[in-house]
Amino acid sequence: MVSVDNRLVLIIDDDEVDRERVRRSIAGDYQVIEADLGSTGVNTFLERQPDCVLLDYLLPDSHGLDVLDDLAHHQATVVMLTGEGNEQIAVDAMKHGAQDYLPKGSLQAGLLKRAIVNAIEKSDLQQKIRDQQEQLQQHAEELQRSNEELQQFAYVASHDLQEPLRSVSSFCNLLQERYQGQFDEQADRWMTKIVRGAERMKTMIQDLLTYSRVESRGGQFRPTDCQQLFDHVMTDLTMTIRQASATVTNDELPTVIGDERQLAQLLQNLISNAIKYRGEQPPTVHVGAEHDERGWKFSVADNGIGISPEHFERIFQMFKRLHTRDQYDGTGIGLSLCERIVRRHGGKLWVESQPGLGSTFSFTIPHIEPTEGADDAPVLGTS
Ligand code: ADP
Repeated sequence: MVSVDNRLVLIIDDDEVDRERVRRSIAGDYQVIEADLGSTGVNTFLERQPDCVLLDYLLPDSHGLDVLDDLAHHQATVVMLTGEGNEQIAVDAMKHGAQDYLPKGSLQAGLLKRAIVNAIEKSDLQQKIRDQQEQLQQHAEELQRSNEELQQFAYVASHDLQEPLRSVSSFCNLLQERYQGQFDEQADRWMTKIVRGAERMKTMIQDLLTYSRVESRGGQFRPTDCQQLFDHVMTDLTMTIRQASATVTNDELPTVIGDERQLAQLLQNLISNAIKYRGEQPPTVHVGAEHDERGWKFSVADNGIGISPEHFERIFQMFKRLHTRDQYDGTGIGLSLCERIVRRHGGKLWVESQPGLGSTFSFTIPHIEPTEGADDAPVLGTS
């Protein structure tokens, strides 16, 4: 319950008799101040900041709803006093920000006091909600800012690191070409390690750059035939598939709205991993697609080494790998890139797996309506 001690109520009503009636019914519980015009009422509100305003709908100098708009703009708690049978006015008053309304004909003390207490409670709650919304909005803005800064940082770091790395790499190559065999064996080994290290760093920086560009350099969303994408990816992977004696099968894949290049990269990463992390048997991979009312669910299932559930989260983090490079080559960015691409398309990516029993990576692409007329207009942000 709201404590009513020393609460201040403002009555705005041009009818002196009505004002007096209202004042008497609540005077024991509230301090009462009065105004007989809309304009003076608003001024009095601003000066005295009462806890509740009882506002007559009919005022000589202004329309009750206009005064209400003014008061609501200053977050006033208002109970509108209407004539009998004026339900429409009551509805309008609520729409314009009144907390409650009372027909003037039925103004009993108890009813009036209850209406005031309820209105104040309601208004306090509304204020709390507004404060929380404002806080939430602030947090969202801070988060967006820090995200943008992080993206910018990743981009600048990866982009600007490329140049010095290129010189390290080229001079090492020169050294190796020209002086190979002129140092002792250990120096040759060290040189080879430097060259490999530089190559690896180059790949990682390029991966990081690709990752940081998923949002900022993403292509436009268009109807994309995934069957065609899959066929292209299969052509690109011909050698890999042949060398691993892999069998890749697929469901008929749908057309979805998305970024063609990124969706191809997604499929390619998942299929390559399915082949790379093979078990004893020749790899078999199946690319599936299922439809429900929210959109499409794709899956890439393999018969490979599988993943223990405790690593499910870790594998989607950047540069996190479960194996050494001697076991399986890679930088550990593929799945985080996939996750980011799927997120950009409004979907989710997850894995189901058991060690030794293969893995199934699934991702969703929700329905998006293509924008009319502009076949190449972005539907989701590409910022
Ligand atoms: P990379 O392949 O370069 O290591 P990814 O981000 O693509 O990077 O994968 C992260 C890790 O997830 C891999 O190191 C591997 O341990 C695991 N992983 C990914 N795909 C599979 C798969 N199909 N089967 C088993 N393990 C996988």
